[in-house]
Amino acid sequence: MINRRSLPERVRQVLIAGLVTLVLSAAMILDPLDQFGWLIQSNLATKAPSGEIVYVGVDQDIEDPDQPEYRRNLARLVTRLDQAGAEAVYLNLLFEQASDDPGADRTLNKALKDFGDNAYITVRKGPDFSGDTITFRSTGAITEGLQQVAAEDRYSYLGITWSMPFASSSQGKVLPALAAAMAGTEGELGRTFPVSYIFDFTKIPSFRSTGLLEKSEGEMRGAFSGKTVLIGGSWGADDQITKVPGKQDVASSFTFIAAAETLKADLSNNFGPWTGFVLTFFLLLLLVSVRLDPKDRHIGYGVLMVLLVGLFTFATHAGSRVSVSTSVFVLLIYAGTRLRVKWQRKYALEDQLTKLPTFRALECDLTEMESHFPLVVAEIHGFQAVLQALPPARHKDYILRLVERLSLGEEGKIIYANDGRHFAWLSSDTEVESIREHLEGLRSLFSQPLLLDGTKLDVGVTFGVEISENPSASVRIATAMNAVEKTSEAHEFVIFDGTETTPDDLWDLSLRARIDSALENGEIFVVYQPQMSIADGRLVGLEALVRWNDPVKGLISPAYFVEQCEKAGRMDHLTRHVLDKAVEDAAYLASIGVDIRMSVNISATLLNGDGVIAMAQEAVAKHNVAANRICLELTETARIPNLDRTSLLLERLSSLGFRLSLDDFGVGEANIENLYRLPFDEMKIDKLFTRDLTNQKNRAILQSLVTLGRDACIDVVAEGIEDRKTLEFLNEIGCPVGQGYYLSYPLPLQKIVEYHAFAQTKSQKHS
Ligand code: C2E
Ligand code: MG
Ligand code: MG
Repeated sequence: MINRRSLPERVRQVLIAGLVTLVLSAAMILDPLDQFGWLIQSNLATKAPSGEIVYVGVDQDIEDPDQPEYRRNLARLVTRLDQAGAEAVYLNLLFEQASDDPGADRTLNKALKDFGDNAYITVRKGPDFSGDTITFRSTGAITEGLQQVAAEDRYSYLGITWSMPFASSSQGKVLPALAAAMAGTEGELGRTFPVSYIFDFTKIPSFRSTGLLEKSEGEMRGAFSGKTVLIGGSWGADDQITKVPGKQDVASSFTFIAAAETLKADLSNNFGPWTGFVLTFFLLLLLVSVRLDPKDRHIGYGVLMVLLVGLFTFATHAGSRVSVSTSVFVLLIYAGTRLRVKWQRKYALEDQLTKLPTFRALECDLTEMESHFPLVVAEIHGFQAVLQALPPARHKDYILRLVERLSLGEEGKIIYANDGRHFAWLSSDTEVESIREHLEGLRSLFSQPLLLDGTKLDVGVTFGVEISENPSASVRIATAMNAVEKTSEAHEFVIFDGTETTPDDLWDLSLRARIDSALENGEIFVVYQPQMSIADGRLVGLEALVRWNDPVKGLISPAYFVEQCEKAGRMDHLTRHVLDKAVEDAAYLASIGVDIRMSVNISATLLNGDGVIAMAQEAVAKHNVAANRICLELTETARIPNLDRTSLLLERLSSLGFRLSLDDFGVGEANIENLYRLPFDEMKIDKLFTRDLTNQKNRAILQSLVTLGRDACIDVVAEGIEDRKTLEFLNEIGCPVGQGYYLSYPLPLQKIVEYHAFAQTKSQKHS
């Protein structure tokens, strides 16, 4: 198998182009193209025929059984040819019916026999109405005792016979083919040879039968002595007409003469269908495998084309056919893939909204650039809030106004954009102090609100500057991005970083870039951890926990990627996704009789706007679930932006019916003040307090937390129950609900359904 990663892109594309061509060729889809190539070849070169094969066309409708006189005339003609010293005579005419006058047939048969060993009559093979090959033969009265040869046409879809057999079978016998016999060549049954049409047909000696009987002995000798004579139907007889390259209607016998001339001139050795392909494929492969400048590679492509045209011309003049289709297709498919890649790159290099170059373009530019300038990344603070406030049609103007501000003092510099809130450029200053001064100026400019449609928009800006000597473009960008992430508007508005970024930093950055696609393609999904009534082991709730199964790194912990998601400004997106899925699954569980409450984690960082309210309302409305079945677990409460505002927001959620839980209670900022000031219905005692219950102090703390909840009329859920002893102790102290690996690991929805069905049958048995 081809390993995608180990092969350079171009080599992979050539291999794929080759493979697709082989498949197309095997499916005969490329045949028509080859035939057009052959048509061109046939018209480009001409060759004089040997002149040893002479054609005699019979004007009269010689096959008509009512005209015995015609057959007698033919017999006379054969005799005259014999007298003139003709070498061989081939009668390519069909007398399916015996003549009304049997004497006429006998005369013809005798004349042919008298001619000697070299008189032949054809058996014609061709398609009938349904396309099957059938054999037409003349009446026994004429053929009796004569040698037979097969005249077999193999029309292509263009109506041209491109190849002919050396022999044919008829009535269990192998007959030499007409063309091969005239050329004096033999070949086994089943073998074919390509027919060349480069012969100048006007130079093939041809006569009409009518005039020949009047010719003098001398004239006949001059024309026929030592010649092979093919007697065929007239130019006008319908069933005897065929097409050859460059000519519409010629007597079908000419195809056989062309075929015989091909064999005589030894032109049958064509280059084979694969010569062009092998040449093109391997030269192309060579071209893309060696390290070349783009310019040199293009010259290489040109040389390859010239070589192919050269091969084509050479083969044409040598009278040998080449198959162009495979060469053309390998090149076409390869060129098509390259164009597509180029187009995709261009697409990735330009921001679709603003047409600004992207960070991907920055990476390319940095790679190609020879001189080394400090790289500045600016982060716009409050960007998302402004975008939310503005109608989408104004987003572009807004971003361009920001760019305008960032360019002040250095007009004309290229500014690269990423996800809207990060911009980058290369500083022409190289001194740290003068860069700082310049950025200081920009910052004070940003402290003035931006006016758009009469609305004042307040944004802040901080900067990360990369000043290392690192040659890798992606490392440089990652370093600047990391630096800007550590800045703060209040304390440190610019950070210079000359140290190198670790592969982990790069990985973080790439993770951030992939969040959206991971959500779309199901790499990010939700599992559910049961919450049980401690007294009786009933399933009372589920906590939705998000998972990311990355194709490269495997399962990534939410503790880690939730942070990356936030850095990428995609928390809204992730939360909406989890909320929607969890509520949808809650609706499904309710529909099959699983009566539980669904808990969803909400990061406190989302509490700075009304977004969460709309999000939660949308989810319950969409799936038709009562809000009181959904519990919002507030995590990361250390980051509650403003307790008063948050209190109002939570009150609204509460009044809409949602239950609110204070997650990780007892650690960090998930403290009594929060419990006191915010309207929680539930507290989740952090796993820290259930971890080690071997000493009295820990047990006392846990007990008092449970008591606190109970006395405050708040539901209590204990997290992190890992063993039976912990569960028993919680039961003793009256903790109502518990969650932990001892009870169940987080599970996919299907397992929860199975678990519920199992628990139900068990309880039915007991009752
Ligand atoms: P959490 O909300 O406190 O979730 C409980 C975590 O404890 C889960 O880890 C769960 O798998 C783990 N856990 C459950 N039982 C036990 C146990 O017996 N022992 C131990 N040691 N651990 C147990 P997980 O799934 O890795 O999640 C970690 C944190 O990530 C969550 O802590 C939550 O803060 C956050 N998170 C998970 N999903 C989401 C989400 O959709 N949105 C947000 N904002 N945060 C989420
Ligand atoms: Mg939680
Ligand atoms: Mg917790």
